[in-house]
Amino acid sequence: MDFLSFAKAVYDNTVSLKFIESKCVKNITCKFCKSKQIYIMKSRNQLRCKICKKDFKPFTNSKFPLVKISYSKWLAIIKLFELSVSAKTASKQMQLDYKTTLKAFDTLRFSILEELAKSDRVLKGEIEADEAYFGGKRKGNRGRGARNKTIVFGILERNGKVSVQIVKNVKAKTLLAGTIRKVKKGSIVYTDKWLGYDSLIFNGYKHLSVDHKKTFVKDDVYINGIEGFWSFAKENMAKYHGVSPSKFLLYIKEMEWRYNNRNNDLFDLLLKYMLGVEYT
Ligand SMILES: [Zn+2]
Repeated sequence: MDFLSFAKAVYDNTVSLKFIESKCVKNITCKFCKSKQIYIMKSRNQLRCKICKKDFKPFTNSKFPLVKISYSKWLAIIKLFELSVSAKTASKQMQLDYKTTLKAFDTLRFSILEELAKSDRVLKGEIEADEAYFGGKRKGNRGRGARNKTIVFGILERNGKVSVQIVKNVKAKTLLAGTIRKVKKGSIVYTDKWLGYDSLIFNGYKHLSVDHKKTFVKDDVYINGIEGFWSFAKENMAKYHGVSPSKFLLYIKEMEWRYNNRNNDLFDLLLKYMLGVEYT
């Protein structure tokens, strides 16, 4: 959603409610008498039926009730999250306490994780595989000097999607297990010259590697795709000014999702995840 449409949708809580309702399977009706004549109680997300005068809450099957903020604030949170604003900055912009803002952001991140799990599939065809180190201060080579860093194993299907997983180390056994889990046998796997990839060929994969000491691209043998993802992820995660290790998975999966949906409207996708079964 563009910014001006967004501004209209957050004009006040009633407008926001109507906007969210417009994305739902059916219009809101009174839970008790099925009347469509309802109004929103100010400052609360509670509705009152004009006919039977009873109060009820809409979107009960959605994720909106998980954080007790108005619908306008929810839409604003989704917009700021779409724009990769940190929770800290968002909390200031929203005049909302940090804890609540973070809870709303994490609700969005968990909904992304859920969606990724639902749409999980095996990658095939031409695949690029590579590992990257995140966090920590020390620079170092593979294995050595990688303490305090989180190792991420990434697999990218050319002209398709990227998939990341956190790994404990970059040993052959680990990388092979990660590949088997995500890549169809018979696929061509492009990697760099790291020895950890040498066993792919004995496990049903075609394996071609590029020696980065000599060249970066040799005909079809390159891993520029997955390296493009690492730059994307690192650049975007830097906007959050440090990610706590306990939440790293949420953030790196968010990057996977952002990258795979870079041509889609993220706001609409998030709203869909928030509404769950109530979405049209
Ligand atoms: Zn009623």
